[in-house]
Parts: sequence; structure tokens; C-alpha cells
Amino acid sequence: PKPPPVTRYNLNNVTISPSPVENRENVLILTPMARFYQQYWDNLMRLTYPHELITLGFILPKTKEGNAATTELQKQIAKTQKSSPERDRFKSIIILRQDFEPPIPSQDEGERHKMQNQKGRRAAMAKARNSLLFTTLGPATSWVLWLDADIIETPPTLIQDLALHDKPLVAPNCFQRFYNAEKKAMDERPYDFNNWQDSPTAQELAAKMGPDDILLEGYADMATYRALMAYMQGEDDDQNMEVPLDGVGGTALLVKADVHRDGAMFPAFPFYHLIETEGFARMAKRLGWQATGLPNYKVYHYNE
Ligand code: GDP
Ligand code: MN
Repeated sequence: PKPPPVTRYNLNNVTISPSPVENRENVLILTPMARFYQQYWDNLMRLTYPHELITLGFILPKTKEGNAATTELQKQIAKTQKSSPERDRFKSIIILRQDFEPPIPSQDEGERHKMQNQKGRRAAMAKARNSLLFTTLGPATSWVLWLDADIIETPPTLIQDLALHDKPLVAPNCFQRFYNAEKKAMDERPYDFNNWQDSPTAQELAAKMGPDDILLEGYADMATYRALMAYMQGEDDDQNMEVPLDGVGGTALLVKADVHRDGAMFPAFPFYHLIETEGFARMAKRLGWQATGLPNYKVYHYNE
């Protein structure tokens, strides 16, 4: 028999609730990926959110490094989807290859964090995120989890924990483990400085800028005096503490799919002097969706 020619989705029936497992809500995990890290995949596999409700989407650059990462990724996908137990398998997986060149070939942490490289790099990242989002977001998607390819450690209940906050955008705090030579022991330090609360200084800087100039966070040459979530983390504090944010990073970020459906995306151009994920938070806010941060709920970035 021929399938019916029209598939109807009533968006009112797609719930986006603080109990997504009970309501069988579909989650789309989106990852721009320049390098493949086994620890990223292992962490993904450990997520306790029912895998049959999860779609994975990846976008990789067409560089030598991107080709190598694609091969590694496909190996893991084949293993999981074909020979792992049913409960480990994801609902579906989409891999995209980027159709534009990255602005700078080097991807080392030092090189990519240089201020003069930021505008081009962040614009390219914005385009990659938008391509990934607009080709994968479906009518049954409830949540989008942005998760960078170098996030190697999260609580296994990440999705449920973040969804419980019932916020349009919610960001955990991204740290990095490192060997502290002074203490002669493993230690951790903040990594993602794009989760912040705006400051009068940053607004004054923006007011004096040309229309194409952008504000960047974490550079001594451009002191913004914004309040960074990275530094709001306290020792024995409540894991569930919430703070409002004006800028967000993309290392780990849970977004209600309605926010993206309303048209909030990652500007590859200066938007209120912000681009990419920070511009996204601003655009969401203009659409009426406020970002929230969880200073004491931590995820960990790979240490190069
Ligand atoms: P940083 O940690 O903020 O310095 O940024 P990264 O270089 O880690 O980039 C953020 C995410 O985008 C990571 O998941 C990278 O693997 C990925 N990424 C970096 N450059 C590119 C690129 O040119 N194309 C795509 N598709 N992904 C990229
Ligand atoms: Mn990274």
C-alpha cells in the first residue's frame, strides 16, 4: 500500500516539559566536530536518557582533520547502531560535511583563541551550527542539546537534569581538568567564558563601536567587566542554583526546540555586536526567551 501523501504534525502535541522521559520527548543532540575524541563518544553512550528518543547530528569540516574525524565517528556509529544492545542504539544519526572552508586551518587551542582570529572563526562556527540546526530540526523535536565534540565528561543524567529546570535555554558550567604542578595533583579550572551577564562597561564599549565590530569575552585587551558564570561556581553550593545569563557558550547548552522554531539562530554577523552563541542568546532574548546558567552544575572540556 502507498503511504499517505501528507504527514500531519500538531506542534501543540509535541510537549517540552520538565519530565521529558515520562512524556517520551525527542531530543536532538547537535555537535560541530573538527576532531573526534573517544571520551566524547563514551560519555555520550553513558547518557541515561532513552537512546531511542535521541537523534544525533554532526557537522564536520572537509579538511584532512575533518576527514579523519569522520572516519573515526563512522566507526563508532557502526559499532553502536549495528552490534550494541538495543538500548544503546540511538533513534537516528545524521552526519553533514561542511560545504565551506574554515577561515583558518590551525585548530590548536593557543592559535584559535588569538583575538585577531576570533571574528572569522566564530562566524564560520555560526554558519556550521546553523547548517546543522536547519537540516536536522524536525517537527517532533522537543529539545536541542548543543554539545561540543571536546566535552568529554558530563553527569550521565545531563539531559534530564537540565530539562528539569524547564528553561528555554539552560547552560551548565564548563570546566577543564588539568595537572596542577604547584599542588602536584589533578585540579580543575573554568573553560567556557561565553556564559556571562552583561555589564555597563561592555555596553559602553559596544556603544562606541562601528557597526561591524564585535565584543569578545576573555581578552585582557578588551576588559568588559561582565560577570562570568565560570567564576560563580562555589565549593559546596547547590547544584541547582540558577543565574540569568545574557551571553551563552555552545560547549553544552540545552534549548527548547520552540526557541529555534521561533527563528533564534547563531548570527554569523555582528548582532548587537555579538556573534555565534553569544549572538544566539541575544536573539533568543529579543524573541522573549531568557537564558539561564547553572554555575554549580559542571561538565568538562578536553585538555589539549
Ligand atoms: P573552543 O573550545 O571554544 O576553543 O572551540 P573549539 O575549537 O573546540 O570548537 C567548538 C566546537 O566546534 C568543537 O566541537 C569543535 O570540534 C568544532 N569545530 C571547530 N572548528 C570547526 C569547523 O571548522 N567546522 C566544524 N564543523 N566544527 C568545528
Ligand atoms: Mn572546545
